[in-house]
Amino acid sequence: MTEQGKGKGFDTRAVRGGQVRTAEQEQSEPLFLSSSFTFDSAAQAAARFAGEEPGNIYSRFTNPTVRTFEQRLAGLEGGQACVATSSGMAAINAMCMALLRSGDHVICSRGVFGTTTSLLTKVLPKFGVHATFVGPTDYAGWQEAMRPETRLLFLETPSNPLTEVADIAWLAGLAHEHDALLVVDNCFCTPALQRPLELGADLIIHSATKYLDGQGRCVGGAVVGDDKRVGEEIFGMLRTAGPSMSPFNAWVFSKGLETLRLRMRAHSENAQALAEWLQEHPRVTRVNYPGLPGHAQHELARRQQDGFGGILSFEVDGGRAGAWAVVDGTEMISITANLGDVKSTITHPASTTHGRISQEERDASGITEGLLRISVGLEDVEDLQADLDRALAAG
Ligand SMILES: *Cc1c(COP(=O)(O)O)cnc(C)c1O
Repeated sequence: MTEQGKGKGFDTRAVRGGQVRTAEQEQSEPLFLSSSFTFDSAAQAAARFAGEEPGNIYSRFTNPTVRTFEQRLAGLEGGQACVATSSGMAAINAMCMALLRSGDHVICSRGVFGTTTSLLTKVLPKFGVHATFVGPTDYAGWQEAMRPETRLLFLETPSNPLTEVADIAWLAGLAHEHDALLVVDNCFCTPALQRPLELGADLIIHSATKYLDGQGRCVGGAVVGDDKRVGEEIFGMLRTAGPSMSPFNAWVFSKGLETLRLRMRAHSENAQALAEWLQEHPRVTRVNYPGLPGHAQHELARRQQDGFGGILSFEVDGGRAGAWAVVDGTEMISITANLGDVKSTITHPASTTHGRISQEERDASGITEGLLRISVGLEDVEDLQADLDRALAAG
């Protein structure tokens, strides 16, 4: 049985990568809903447990459907290895647990997913790992935050929800000068629009829940990188600590990857049109979208990305009351904090995704009370504009 799609172009790898046909000669990827696997003999069981013979034992360790997803995603990111996890947060946690020890220091961008901030400020300090937060594009700040015990730099670009774009190659250089690793959460762009490993990053984090699924169905995550860190150390942590991906979810994500590039292009087109339209609206005081020529890092985004993505944020007048009235005034756009769905979603970051971090941290991150984030879906852009036009008039 040969693995398909190896070494081919991006779209071919997205459609065929990681698939290993069984003796049934199925066309679509099979779904192995099996918690354990059988052995031919006691000797084979012993050899598998001892790691002397490759092969499946138990689905907390490996599962063929999960492996298809892992190999397909590794192929798209250009990584040697990928491990799938039960959620995006499980991917970040497993990476930290595997690679950090008490006394280590992390530098994290301020513009990251709210729960990532909570993990670094509330959970990891209990184990002696401490983090410093800096603005994603505050390069002097990243340099000043460096300590002898700094092991890891953590970044999301574009940032959430302000869409600030940070220079991955520059940050990789800084990390490597200090024998630290650069970890990029590539959730917003996906490998269809940005491949951080090619720019020098060491590890990639994914919340597969978002664009990799693309239709808002399953929760999952992944870490991509080299054979040693990902294939041995993080895989070893996962197999012991247990946050492995369900085969069913892996099957959904593998099918999602097949249309990833097409969807990311369409999301980007819709977001660009909506951003340009919002910019002209009298109630909108600011629009954050890397595809706008007025965006502070528009040129960097052009160089570093193959498209500008589907996430934008904007500020309306009237503070929290004004922003909530816009959310409540929409009739079609879904009010949910999830993103990366074909259905457009709207959220008020200050009271939802970033509601549990302190006011001080929010102010430092620029998450104002009037800020709204939209994950632009694949509906007709005219219908999205009509929905927002109505909502903005009501607010
Ligand atoms: C959602 C998200 C996560 C966390 O992923 P879960 O699958 O919800 O655990 C991490 N990073 C980013 C950028 C996200 O959007």
